[in-house]
Amino acid sequence: MQKKTIKCRLCSGAATYVFSKKLIQKYEVAFFHCNQCESLQTEAPYWLDEAYEGCKSIPDIATVSRCQNLKSIVYMVAKIFGLSSSDMILDWGGGDGLLTRMMRDAGLNAYLLDKYIRNHYAVGFEDRLTHNYKMITAFEVLEHFSNPETEIENIFKRNPEILFISTGLYKSQDSDWGYLTPLSGRHVFFYSEKSRQHIAKRFGYELITEQNFSIFYKNTLDFSRRWLLKLVLSGKNPNLLRILFYFVPKESLIMQDREMATKKIKNGEPGKINWP
Ligand SMILES: [Zn+2]
Repeated sequence: MQKKTIKCRLCSGAATYVFSKKLIQKYEVAFFHCNQCESLQTEAPYWLDEAYEGCKSIPDIATVSRCQNLKSIVYMVAKIFGLSSSDMILDWGGGDGLLTRMMRDAGLNAYLLDKYIRNHYAVGFEDRLTHNYKMITAFEVLEHFSNPETEIENIFKRNPEILFISTGLYKSQDSDWGYLTPLSGRHVFFYSEKSRQHIAKRFGYELITEQNFSIFYKNTLDFSRRWLLKLVLSGKNPNLLRILFYFVPKESLIMQDREMATKKIKNGEPGKINWP
């Protein structure tokens, strides 16, 4: 028999059953709305091994254009927060490394972490525990967390000044909401504005949310930088942004990265790239 309430996996509040939906064309899964943080979550996921088994069978056609767009947004956000070319950025759940490589091409000192997907484009720029990151990005990652309370804590343990995420903003949409992605069955937690505030408060960060984007940050921001961040995240007025950021110098890391790779190969270590 279907449970009427469960304990929220983010805030431990009581979450009430709202609807059921068939995931991966196989399992009738219950969804719950948390009365405390107002997020939506599936029942405890038991189908994820099957959902990820067919990982390659669902082509992600929009990868390149999404990364191009995100690269521009991260670049502008990094500049607004005053990150220098030596400040490190970690792309959490960075997949095959395409976004990390694109960020490096744009002069951002980016690295990546992904437990499941093989790094292809940013070999040599994998995360190390000794790295201190000024900013962590996690795009389309948090909705995959089976246990968001501990998995989000793992990100904040790295103590970034800025955590920049994107994940579908839950505003009590019904069972037809496209972001539930029932065919893939991989989205299991959906964050409301209030749940993002809950996360910010728990870890002692300020918060800006605009559409699906949220930025958690430690330092205070003046009105103009806050306004500019909101403009960047909203995607409105791209022409104005192009003009505003036109004069910000871009120092690509392509040449520097290439020199490091060449040096490694000359030293006879082509297959064992382990850069500083
Ligand atoms: Zn909750």
